[in-house]
Amino acid sequence: LSAGLDVLRELPCVTTDGHRIPLWVNTGLLADVVRAQERGAEGVGLYRTEVPFMIKERFPSEKEQMAIYREQLEAFHPLPVTMRTLDIGGDKSLPYFPIKEENPFLGWRGIRVTLDHPEIFLLQTRAMLKASVGLNNLRILLPMISGIRELEESLHLIHRAWGEVRDEGMDVEMPPIGVMIEVPAAVYLTRELASQVDFISVGSNDLTQYLLAVDRNNPRVADLYDYLHPAVLEALQRIVKEAHEEGKPVSICGEMAGDPAAAVLLLAMGFDSLSMNATNLPKVKWLLRQISMQTARELLAKVMRIDSPEVTHATVQLALRNLG
Ligand code: PEP
Ligand code: MG
Repeated sequence: LSAGLDVLRELPCVTTDGHRIPLWVNTGLLADVVRAQERGAEGVGLYRTEVPFMIKERFPSEKEQMAIYREQLEAFHPLPVTMRTLDIGGDKSLPYFPIKEENPFLGWRGIRVTLDHPEIFLLQTRAMLKASVGLNNLRILLPMISGIRELEESLHLIHRAWGEVRDEGMDVEMPPIGVMIEVPAAVYLTRELASQVDFISVGSNDLTQYLLAVDRNNPRVADLYDYLHPAVLEALQRIVKEAHEEGKPVSICGEMAGDPAAAVLLLAMGFDSLSMNATNLPKVKWLLRQISMQTARELLAKVMRIDSPEVTHATVQLALRNLG
């Protein structure tokens, strides 16, 4: 198997009829980077910056953050590294910044926290920009956006950080900026959001949770949590269509991208890249190299006519088994 993995690492992710789809990884620590490279990742689709924050006793300084981000950018250079601004609250808390709420998933999380604390956001984005000097493979991604105003405020702060870094004499390019679509409201605003940014990335973990009103971490309702639910698939198709109509690329960085059965449907929908846990990358690549875009599209068309997630699972599994 390891010999097979070595061969697979060097091969592109391309369907039998020549459709290329880059496979990216989700990272948090430097250890993830090594595993990602062993598996031939073509970039980082989601670097969860809250992970290095979680293992500290206090907010890391601008200098500390810069060093951490620089390591990620250097390790992948010249491949792109998509850094998400701090996404705390919900299920992710910092020991030195407790958030106590009745309903944390509908509360103060992601961009809401950092827009209320622009000093945290500015310091972080300055650190990212400084870390990218001379490398220019940084992309910045904004979590939990639910409206246009939040995006505009975030863009304003990033431009301010950029101005500050340049005032310090650093020659830094403005990186591509993207928005996560992970709140149902954002699905219906894809067109407007996409028009103001460089790329879109779907957070299917939260999007599934919020569309279905099912806590992603509650075992009691775990059997209701299903990213192949027809409503989730409809939302995903809509996002791809509207982002593409604005001429913007769309990626997906939730767990479903690492599930080979789901990956085939995402390919067929027209996602421009898939970002996943490095562990899942070889099996997704292996499968996408066995299938044609034509077959994937036929399967998607069939699945979109099914109204039960159970039947969808069975249909996709059967189709993939027939591939070998
Ligand atoms: C998501 O919500 O799908 C996502 C990728 O972000 P996280 O899992 O970190 O919330
Ligand atoms: Mg999320």
